[in-house]
Amino acid sequence: MTRGICILGATGSIGKSTLDVVSRHPDQFRIVALTGNHRVAAMQALCEQHHPELVVMAAPEAAQQLRVALGDAGLKHIRVESGREALAEAARMPGVDEVMAAIVGAAGLLPTLAAVESGKKVYLANKECLVMAGSLFMERVRHHQVTLLPIDSEHNAVFQCFAEGKGVRRILLTASGGPFRAWPVERLAAVTPDQACAHPNWVMGRKISVDSATMMNKGLEVIEAHWLFNLPASQIDVLIHPQSIIHSMVEYVDGSVLAQLGNPDMRTPIAHALAYPERMESGVSSLDLARGPDLQFEAPDLQRFPCLALAFNALKVGGAAATVLNAANEMAVQAFLEGTLPFSRIAAVVEDTLSELQPAAPDHLDAVLAVDQLAREAAVRHLRRHRSGMQ
Ligand code: NAD
Ligand code: MG
Repeated sequence: MTRGICILGATGSIGKSTLDVVSRHPDQFRIVALTGNHRVAAMQALCEQHHPELVVMAAPEAAQQLRVALGDAGLKHIRVESGREALAEAARMPGVDEVMAAIVGAAGLLPTLAAVESGKKVYLANKECLVMAGSLFMERVRHHQVTLLPIDSEHNAVFQCFAEGKGVRRILLTASGGPFRAWPVERLAAVTPDQACAHPNWVMGRKISVDSATMMNKGLEVIEAHWLFNLPASQIDVLIHPQSIIHSMVEYVDGSVLAQLGNPDMRTPIAHALAYPERMESGVSSLDLARGPDLQFEAPDLQRFPCLALAFNALKVGGAAATVLNAANEMAVQAFLEGTLPFSRIAAVVEDTLSELQPAAPDHLDAVLAVDQLAREAAVRHLRRHRSGMQ
């Protein structure tokens, strides 16, 4: 029997890799629902290829354009909806067994929670969900007894090396260091969005690419690892490994270190999670260590990458600090991508927002969303100040 899949964020980079893996196994999977935001042509192409029952575009005008386009293409039977509630509906559909959560940012929280609350198996790429609402999210996962499998390559690697989690001394999350690892710090002020998005090893969406360049991505991943593996900040280390061949490691109390290796291609963690506890073909080529690059390692430079320190600190502080961190970072990255904030000021906007707001730990969803909103408003004020410093 085939398993019904919903892909939240199907038009993105993870969405595309998931569809590639799923398409290799038509005997196992059925594409039931796909969601996107506003890219009509991209979604139309996915509909022509995968014939989902339901498509949701977050933007209403995009949904309307897609309806017309699908009508013209003879695909009128594909239902097209729009808006937030419809995103959650896609995740909850009765024919859906499993949900790939691959929307970027806080926008993914409600539909991913809808998947959890309707008892679907969840593949989690959308790390911002856990950063902004980790406690509540994991409580919902436990309450509904759903299977949650990590797609982020580092967390998938840790999961593969974690055994039963007995005798773990620490985990080591590897980080490429992004495109500016070796740049003089003075040059970072003039970095353009295209330079920041040109990652040396991975092709990813623009937000996570900027996060990788500031290393906020690794900071978000430290918080993600805390929730997924129930480890304190003191047992989570970050190690720079520019080649992205070792995807992360687990060290045990006896000194053993287990690592997961592979070519940098997200189809590996995606296929691992989709097939777990079995294994399946992903289309990823064999790792050739004899011909490959030398593997290098170094400690992260927190002066160069202040975002990593901010994230570690937010985890240690607790409360709603991670919710504030995530919201402020989303606002700052968006401003940088729009050309209104220098790259080197992203960390300052996040830091100022964190200093201004120290709300208590939110104990329900509305409280999380309220902190998120408050932090976005505060970040806008700090953005204005840092922006005026641009001239
Ligand atoms: P992307 O920008 O390529 O795709 C994002 C998807 O989210 C798109 O389908 C887009 O339509 C949708 N989306 C954006 N805003 C939305 C909104 N407001 N409402 C509804 N849908 C919206 O991003 P990506 O690189 O595929 O990353 C997706 C998630 O996976 C992120 O959380 C990222 O951190 C995580 N992740 C990505 C990679 C990677 O290699 N790309 C690796 C690990 C984790
Ligand atoms: Mg990652």
